[in-house]
Amino acid sequence: RSWKESGLPSGILQIVDNAGYTEPSAVQRAAIPIALQNRDLIGVAVTGSGKTAAFLLPLLVYISALPTLDEMTKNDGPYAIILAPTRELAQQIELEARKFATPLGFKCVSLVGGHSIEEQSYNMRDGAEIIIATPGRLVDCIERRVLVLSQCCYIIMDEADRMIDLGFEEPVNKILDALPVSNEKPDTDAAEDGKAMGRGGYRQTMMYTATMPAAVERIARKYLRRPAIVTI
Ligand code: AMP
Repeated sequence: RSWKESGLPSGILQIVDNAGYTEPSAVQRAAIPIALQNRDLIGVAVTGSGKTAAFLLPLLVYISALPTLDEMTKNDGPYAIILAPTRELAQQIELEARKFATPLGFKCVSLVGGHSIEEQSYNMRDGAEIIIATPGRLVDCIERRVLVLSQCCYIIMDEADRMIDLGFEEPVNKILDALPVSNEKPDTDAAEDGKAMGRGGYRQTMMYTATMPAAVERIARKYLRRPAIVTI
């Protein structure tokens, strides 16, 4: 199957083509159409599967469709957060994210250890639609009020099992509890009862993991709403 069947809009397909991604990988074929329906998702996939683009491309579709984009000020905070277990992975995700986000005019900033909070705060001075962060550093930023999450309705946890292994269950819980909107969605279609994703509505939460230990299941049960499960 080709990219045309993924449901991505033509503007984004053009960027994917420019990146030289001639065919979608298995996880991209399976996960992108589900994410585009604003469903929560658990992706069981490893590095090398193309999982990064699988979660980034629907994220960019979501941000592109936000009505408030033109009014963004530097105090508005990010629209999406990607959590990663390590600085290295966060920086890898940032590179991949920039490849697709920059042509659309969206800014990505990573918040990881090894750089001062002041420096990272400076990087966000003109606003950043997408934040890529390690959990400990993100909690620091929230507690020091360097970062406002009031607009953040799109969350991706990458390598959730490694985040648990590295002792990040508590900060991950803190971050998800700090989000402005719940993961509650009525059984009916959002459109039917007038509740939409985003401010005052519900959020979309996705998790990628290679394995499913009990602690990862705990987070999934607590923060994901009726997730689709994609196993590659
Ligand atoms: P990931 O599993 O997300 O870490 O991706 C592994 C590598 O494959 C990265 O270097 C991506 O840039 C690349 N990649 C991801 N999707 C595709 C695709 N559909 N076609 C070609 N390369 C890809």
